Amino acid sequence: MTASTIERDQDAGATSTRYHYTRVVEIAGRTVRARLERGVYRNHSGAVAEVLTDQDWSTLAADDLNNWWHDTPPPSVDVDAAAVLGPLAERLLHRAAEILTAPPPTVTLSPHLYRAVSALLATSSGYNAECRIDPNDITWATDNGGTLHIFENPDGSVTFTKAHRDECAFVASKGGQDCDDECYFDLPSRI
Ligand SMILES: [Zn+2]
Repeated sequence: MTASTIERDQDAGATSTRYHYTRVVEIAGRTVRARLERGVYRNHSGAVAEVLTDQDWSTLAADDLNNWWHDTPPPSVDVDAAAVLGPLAERLLHRAAEILTAPPPTVTLSPHLYRAVSALLATSSGYNAECRIDPNDITWATDNGGTLHIFENPDGSVTFTKAHRDECAFVASKGGQDCDDECYFDLPSRI
């Protein structure tokens, strides 16, 4: 973990139908908890890192069940929940620390931008599209290509782009100037 992580609390337990492990830490002054639960069934299981904001926990990162569920033992009172789920909590808290210490630019969703997101979904996946983005996809999109930049252009159009480096002239000018032609990103290992 990072140097600014302070341990606050942890809790673990196991029954014949579930076991859980919760670890609460302070990262860069924010209270963050990793909450992991392994039930008999997949839909009684989950792994999330959450940050405390205004008395509410909001999700920072989540670990897809496919990444760990089959590698963990089925519930039993003999399971050492902290030993089994502790490494997963550590991984989630590490991702949470990365997010909190290098926050992405805050995006305010104006009504126009909200409708532009609707158009992005509709034009890419159909006018009545529904799309559920899994935690793995979010991590993959964050790790590959450029940071998402959104420009509301003077003519009412909206540009969504992951094609440029943050220091590219196109990004610095919010779409006013052309790309400096030095924006290359490694090809992702998973499409
Ligand atoms: Zn560029």
